[in-house]
Amino acid sequence: MSFESLGLREDLLRAVREQGYTEPTPIQRQAIPTILTGADVLAGAQTGTGKTAGFTLPLLQRLMASRPGDARRHGPRPIRALVLTPTRELAAQVQESVETYGRHLPLSSAVIFGGVKINPQIAQLRRGVDILVATPGRLLDHAGQGNLDLSRIEILVLDEADRMLDMGFIHDIRRVLALLPAARERQNLLFSATFSDEIKDLANRLLNQPRLIEVARRNTAAETVRQVVHPVDRHRKRELLSHLVGANDWRQVLVFTRTKHGANRLAQQLEQDGLSAAAIHGNKSQGARTRALAGFKAGEVRVLVATDIAARGLDIDQLPHVVNYELPNVPEDYVHRIGRTGRAGNEGEAISLVCVDEHKLLRDIERLLKREVPKVVLDGYAPDPSIPAEPILRGGGQRAGGQRGGGQRDATRESGPRQQAKHGHVHRKPKVGEQRSPRHGRPSRRREVPALLGGNRDD
Ligand code: AMP
Repeated sequence: MSFESLGLREDLLRAVREQGYTEPTPIQRQAIPTILTGADVLAGAQTGTGKTAGFTLPLLQRLMASRPGDARRHGPRPIRALVLTPTRELAAQVQESVETYGRHLPLSSAVIFGGVKINPQIAQLRRGVDILVATPGRLLDHAGQGNLDLSRIEILVLDEADRMLDMGFIHDIRRVLALLPAARERQNLLFSATFSDEIKDLANRLLNQPRLIEVARRNTAAETVRQVVHPVDRHRKRELLSHLVGANDWRQVLVFTRTKHGANRLAQQLEQDGLSAAAIHGNKSQGARTRALAGFKAGEVRVLVATDIAARGLDIDQLPHVVNYELPNVPEDYVHRIGRTGRAGNEGEAISLVCVDEHKLLRDIERLLKREVPKVVLDGYAPDPSIPAEPILRGGGQRAGGQRGGGQRDATRESGPRQQAKHGHVHRKPKVGEQRSPRHGRPSRRREVPALLGGNRDD
């Protein structure tokens, strides 16, 4: 199927051609014609599926179709489309797509998010924009200051809605919705990688007889991604990671930690190991995050260490390796993380370094995936069965998770004979289930409460 058959205008097709896209992706095939009809849409699609073009192209076309002629325009140009995203990075990337696909159209766009000066954003809003891409917090700041009017919105997009809810944005979203015209007077598009009850709830309130579009099975990890778990002691994770990067000559690897502090520490330690590394998380300035991402994309930074929230929406093509240095507290985050690799049909590999503290998290993930992830013990890195599990402390992005539970605490300590055993060769043992069995009988002190993600919020 070609883009030409989807009903897009020539100036949009031209922009698509200039991007070098030859065929629409599955989500684009379904979403573009449906959105063009004006219907509300509930779409299940992960990052990397081409979902951004899937909503941006028809959004631009619909705005062009309903565009008031210059003669009919009174006063400043109203904001006619609003795209809400959970993170700054995603907001910036979506707006970049709006600019790219809309380059031959007389529509203007702006992106607003927190962590940067507000005045340039105010100036841009005053000049008038047709399409606004925003994170909820900063959008509400602007609304509170009277810098923008959302009463003329024709199309609302909630991108990565599940992540917005995970990040506690539901109240902000409700406040934004209250500033818009009534739901029936606008087109509403909700994109989400997973469908929790909360998402269904939001969809019920927001969407008017939505068309359901789903390109990946619900709550399944991208099928092009090879997944493996390497059981390892918590204090040897860093050593194993450095070894894997070096021995396999990985040039570009995205590594996930649970906390911002953990990300910083690991990046520093990898640098000490001679690997160029950078951390990206919500406490970093926007400039630092942009630089880290640019360095990573350019191949200058070999290891990008990220927290879940910061990594969300990062648009990095054909990322071959993703490493879960620590398993996420929320199983759905695992799906998001591994969605960073194997993008647009490319093969990818998602490797999880799992210590004794994380067995319960792994089981939760496997329950969500509805299958086991193969376990491969690497030579010289077999976990020491005498090491007891420790609780994974959580809470608001504070330090505990990274230091105690996740292999950060002891990461600088090397272990004599094991340390010597690590160098030179890694023999993959391909059989599933070779890892030592988890310890039994030890009472778990792990708190079974959802992670308090507030401290990790990007906005
Ligand atoms: P997204 O899921 O929107 O983050 O898109 C993932 C990546 O796929 C982006 O780098 C897009 O530029 C790229 N992409 C989007 N649509 C297509 C297409 N039809 N063919 C090839 N690449 C695409």
